[in-house]
Amino acid sequence: MRVVAVGSGTAVPSEGRSQSCYMIEKDGRKILVDAGMGTLLRLDQLDVDVREIEAILLTHNHLDHNGDLLGILKARWLNGSEDELSVFGPKGTKYCIEALLEAYSYLRSKLNFSVKEGEEEFEVAGFEVMAIPTFHSVRSNGYLIDGKVLISGDTRPFKEFFEVDCDLLIHELSLPFGYETQDHTTPENLKEMLDVTKAEKIVLTHLYPQTLEVKDEILRFLDDPRLSVANDGDSWEV
Ligand SMILES: [Zn+2]
Ligand SMILES: [Zn+2]
Repeated sequence: MRVVAVGSGTAVPSEGRSQSCYMIEKDGRKILVDAGMGTLLRLDQLDVDVREIEAILLTHNHLDHNGDLLGILKARWLNGSEDELSVFGPKGTKYCIEALLEAYSYLRSKLNFSVKEGEEEFEVAGFEVMAIPTFHSVRSNGYLIDGKVLISGDTRPFKEFFEVDCDLLIHELSLPFGYETQDHTTPENLKEMLDVTKAEKIVLTHLYPQTLEVKDEILRFLDDPRLSVANDGDSWEV
């Protein structure tokens, strides 16, 4: 299984990073976790045809995680895809997509997709997926894929999540030192969790510009050889 950082960025552009998106690939089958704005362009740059994507798992419905969903569906329609794209997300995902189609009603009869929300365990495109509710400002999920790759989406770090068995943990680190927040991860609240996870590799993603600025200092503070900060285009074999 291969994991690709399609977009390691946030809602604010920085260092040329595209918004949140990770691609998981196994036996030639591909799914995405999130599809923030910039995903469509990044997939093209990675030579991935949008028609090859079988499913999109949304961690939550914030624009920097779902902003290119409609664009991907529209590109598939215009490229003549005959396959249905499966979309999964937390409760509220159907409403969100329905509201977008209310605004862009010309797409309603053109786009080919299904939406499932609130599913805890499911199989899609040959992947076994477990959705794990996380703590953010809206309903949100992290996803465990094939029992190996765990992706947090936006959340504060919490013990039960870090206890999940996985080989590769991809976790957000939105904010730098000194922030008090219940919705995101900071170096201070992340450090408390590092002893809990048995992951072989821990990749930090979704760093806002003020966090990226001090990323070397953060890595020194966290002091764990398993840690790295994702860049767009990075990939890992799991
Ligand atoms: Zn968010
Ligand atoms: Zn975000």
